Amino acid sequence: MKFLNEKILKIFSGKTCVMRIDINSDPKSDEGLFRLHAVLPTIIGLRMSGVRVVLISHRGRPLGEDQKCTLKPFVKVIEREVGEKVRFIPLTNFEEIADTIEAGKENIFLLENIRFLKGEEMNDASLGKQLAALGSFYINDAFAVSHRESASTCAITKYIPSYAGPLMKREIGSLRTAMKPLHPFVLMIGGAKISDKLPLIEKFWKSADAVIVGGGAANTLLAAQGIPMGNSLYDASLIPRVQKYANAAQVITPSDTRDRKNEILDIGPKTEKEFSIFLKGANTVVWNGPMGMFEKKGFELGTRAMWSTLIKRAKLDKNVHIYVGGGETITSLRTMGLLPTKLPKNIFLSTGGGAMLEFLSGKKLPGIDALK
Ligand code: ADP
Ligand code: MG
Repeated sequence: MKFLNEKILKIFSGKTCVMRIDINSDPKSDEGLFRLHAVLPTIIGLRMSGVRVVLISHRGRPLGEDQKCTLKPFVKVIEREVGEKVRFIPLTNFEEIADTIEAGKENIFLLENIRFLKGEEMNDASLGKQLAALGSFYINDAFAVSHRESASTCAITKYIPSYAGPLMKREIGSLRTAMKPLHPFVLMIGGAKISDKLPLIEKFWKSADAVIVGGGAANTLLAAQGIPMGNSLYDASLIPRVQKYANAAQVITPSDTRDRKNEILDIGPKTEKEFSIFLKGANTVVWNGPMGMFEKKGFELGTRAMWSTLIKRAKLDKNVHIYVGGGETITSLRTMGLLPTKLPKNIFLSTGGGAMLEFLSGKKLPGIDALK
């Protein structure tokens, strides 16, 4: 894989870079700001090297044009953070777009949500070519979407020199070290659906010293243990597949829960203590998925307890490495009144949710492969 470096920046000084970023979120949310902040150094670095930048991202899963998913509100945020004018480019026809960029006085352009075009998610070659024509080279700094095969992550790389950006490099580097963990190694899984998380459990359940499962993801394991689920979120069809983990010694499931109207919505206080014991003894922790429905008052307690234990552990021992990913998991930091930037350095926050899960599960990510 070719990574962006000083030499490449020099070659393309004065030219235009087409850059895929991932600011897929509400611009006012913690997640949105976290993702934007993660990629700002790249944008600023390009500008300092005299490179003009055309930013491409998606937001949500719109079916065609849908103003609820517009990227326009990000213009002001980027302007404020970079300290330069940003021109918003609606998705009219590509000749017009190319002319606007060519003639524009601005040096930073933000294209409207690329998923408004149906070619994006189809990895359409002609859309890739049209996007490539907007600049002299391409940077993919959108690790969080690299598990998707799309025109702006894959097809585009066929037409102009293409490089992995610094954020992509940092994500790959960090997650590679997570795959060679120092023991004791604890994998902590939560979140809504077990189906998304199962590949990671399947990959690590033998090599991890403990796999802690909470949140909605734990419910299917609890159901496999014969515990009645009432109105709780779980996946009955996956019970046969999770059976062997449900009773494995190293897989730790909640021993008590916080419920409402017969629905499990958080791990209980006893479980918080039990999970914390494993986290306190770990040298490597990989965490994806909140321990409960933290958005609802009273059900954020389990997730908050895990954050608190992990932050203490990280501060106490600088050699401990903690990797956390997932949009809601990062958002749940707010339950601590904390911002992602305020964490100890040995807690690595990945911008990827699904991409992090797939990377750690050992799958090939099309957006990364396209850069090889
Ligand atoms: P991430 O975005 O961090 O990868 P997920 O998308 O998998 O996490 O899941 C996050 C969602 O899971 C949160 O919105 C939370 O409300 C929900 N959740 C957690 N525990 C439960 C539960 N016991 N029942 C229902 N939903 C839950
Ligand atoms: Mg999520």
